[in-house]
Amino acid sequence: MSSLPYLDPTLPTEQRVADLIGRMTLPEKAGQMLQLTARDGVRHLVEDFHVGSILHASPERVREAAEMASHSRLGIPLLIAEDCIHGHSFWQGATIFPTQLGMAATWDAALIERAARITAIEVAATGVHWTFSPVLCIARDLRWGRVDETFGEDPFLIGEFASAMVRGYQGDGLADPTAILACAKHFAGYSETQGGRDASEADISRRKLRSWFLPPFERVAREGCRTFMLGYQSMDGVPVTVNDWLLNEVLRGEWGYRGTLVTDWDNVGRMVWEQHIFPDFTTASAAAVKAGNDMVMTTQDFFEGAQDAVAKGLLEESDLDAAVTRILTLKFELGLFENPRHPDAARQAEVIGIAAHAELNLEVARRSLVLLRNDGTLPMAGGLTAGADGRASAPQARTVAIVGPNADDAHTQLGDWAGASGQAEWLPEGHPREMITTVLDGFREVAPQDWTVTHARGADIVVTGPDPEGEFFPDGQPRPDVALPAPVDEALIAAAVADASRADYVVAVVGDRIELVGEYCSTATLELMGGQVALLDALAATGKPLIVVLLSSKPLVLPPSALNAAAIVYAANPGMRGGRAIAELLLGLIEPGGRLPISFARHAGQQPTYYNQVRGQHGHRYADLTQAPAFAFGQGLSYTTVEYSGLRVLTPTVGPADTVRAQVQLRNTGARPALETVQVYVSDTVTSVTWAEQELKAYRQVTVEPGETRVVELEVPVAACSIVDARGARVVEPGEFELRVGPSSRAEDLQRAAFAVVA
Ligand code: BGC
Repeated sequence: MSSLPYLDPTLPTEQRVADLIGRMTLPEKAGQMLQLTARDGVRHLVEDFHVGSILHASPERVREAAEMASHSRLGIPLLIAEDCIHGHSFWQGATIFPTQLGMAATWDAALIERAARITAIEVAATGVHWTFSPVLCIARDLRWGRVDETFGEDPFLIGEFASAMVRGYQGDGLADPTAILACAKHFAGYSETQGGRDASEADISRRKLRSWFLPPFERVAREGCRTFMLGYQSMDGVPVTVNDWLLNEVLRGEWGYRGTLVTDWDNVGRMVWEQHIFPDFTTASAAAVKAGNDMVMTTQDFFEGAQDAVAKGLLEESDLDAAVTRILTLKFELGLFENPRHPDAARQAEVIGIAAHAELNLEVARRSLVLLRNDGTLPMAGGLTAGADGRASAPQARTVAIVGPNADDAHTQLGDWAGASGQAEWLPEGHPREMITTVLDGFREVAPQDWTVTHARGADIVVTGPDPEGEFFPDGQPRPDVALPAPVDEALIAAAVADASRADYVVAVVGDRIELVGEYCSTATLELMGGQVALLDALAATGKPLIVVLLSSKPLVLPPSALNAAAIVYAANPGMRGGRAIAELLLGLIEPGGRLPISFARHAGQQPTYYNQVRGQHGHRYADLTQAPAFAFGQGLSYTTVEYSGLRVLTPTVGPADTVRAQVQLRNTGARPALETVQVYVSDTVTSVTWAEQELKAYRQVTVEPGETRVVELEVPVAACSIVDARGARVVEPGEFELRVGPSSRAEDLQRAAFAVVA
């Protein structure tokens, strides 16, 4: 046992932290609050900046930095952070799951928790302690480039799934060697963009924040999510980084949050060079410390800025102590002083990308697929069964033409924040090709041996070229190439049409590409880009059964040739096993169970299309188009039909502390089993202020076998039937309510029954 108290594991954490802080110099404290990118090496970060944390470190640099820190003056271990968003994104050969949007389409919190647990197990073996996940932003304008990172548009679902993911990451508590720190981001309101433009000022009131944007964050804050990341944007002129109301009154005050706050990328610097609300880094750093930021991501100038602020009397040295205390507490609770959790090669070999993880990944991918339309063409050949090897067998040989730019594009299938998506330079080739099953691979793997599977690309989506604004952003980050629609290529179309004409089924896999996804890559349009619409038109004209698979980061606008196709399946970047899951679904080896966690627009000009809009708009039409989405929140078909009937509220009058209980009857009228997601919406008939027409408050997933009739019990706590009143208080207002139950949010899909809340 060391003689220094902070190195004595038998002492309480508080005592160790206090002892250590007492030994730290001002530069060491400022450095402890810094998280810098390891992109340009690590020695200077540890030696010159005394950083508390690093991010974006290649595997070699993780080890180098961690060892260097342990030999520093006080031997304070580093927190190593990475964006492990849907799997260990930038670890070659890790398990890459569907994106958060894909996971959300499963409507299965337990499955999402298992995926996050697997991610944590893989991440923990590599010396990384902290993932910047999950995203709790509410998808609003579909043009925003980060819709794929969200759980969709509904605050209740987001809360359910975020909570599950945090549990998965943080495991049994930080002492568990497979636990990693979760990070709820981007707190809060970041997704309320203007025109879909990333990080634009969010035009959002406190009441609106409290109504829809904050509840998922409040939930994970109260449940112990250990870190929060602060959004880039300003609201009412105030960047989140210095928003005293949001950070101190609400998060730390009302919710009693004791966790650690990290800024987003250079938020402190942006207040100087982008938002222009501080003249220099000294004043910006002082303001960030005063507002309660703990970890400052990638603002190198904070190091000098904070010290200068102390020298100039803008800060007391002790002002840094609260932040440093929180950071050190995390390090002590993770046990890093005793076991720095360095990368462990033996453990990596045991856990990373292993078959059991690939199996769960396949399950998540299967469950994420949403069947949006089906004229009976699917499942192919009436539905096949698989042998022990997973391959289907069928009485008759068929030909399937697999076409489209996303049919065999391994990287696009993974989506953003994975492999070669641009954030990590040490994986130029992305993840190993052999780990990824594209749709073409999937058909070759599972279609009956004697079926013919052909492939033609048919179209390109984008061509890229240098950004006319220059090679670098003002903060020195490289500007990505800009994407331009690819020209229609008649030769590619002709080859696809030739394949289609000889086929029994045409599977057209269309969508977007990484150049159209992510920060700085919001889109002005939502249409299928490049040669894709021309391709679909030409395929439709062949008269062959056309199955459109939309493999994309977010809902896109489909042309008539797709909307009228025999079938449409949505696959939100479905991860490494996604192509196999799609093949299995189309062949009928599995049942479609996914439901939309987000609405599909008919036209980009309809934005936003989310279902829970506030009552009072005039009519339901634009002069030139309906306002109804192409596909609504909650929609998704099975290979059978399930009838809903007899909704009955068992508790017609309830008090504020009660639970509304109800029953509905489901009958499977078809020949195949259904995994039905019974959705429970609540409509508050009269509210003291305008409110959403209806909101999702509960759901249940149940299996209904062919011919089976099943009574499903439903429960909604009255406390959840709340609104946010004019003063900003969340209240349940006594009066009449309507329970609406059905397979989607569409009015025509819902059974209705009344209940009353009495004071
Ligand atoms: C993103 C965050 C991310 C961070 C670190 C930022 O640009 O907005 O979501 O966690 O970079 O990579």
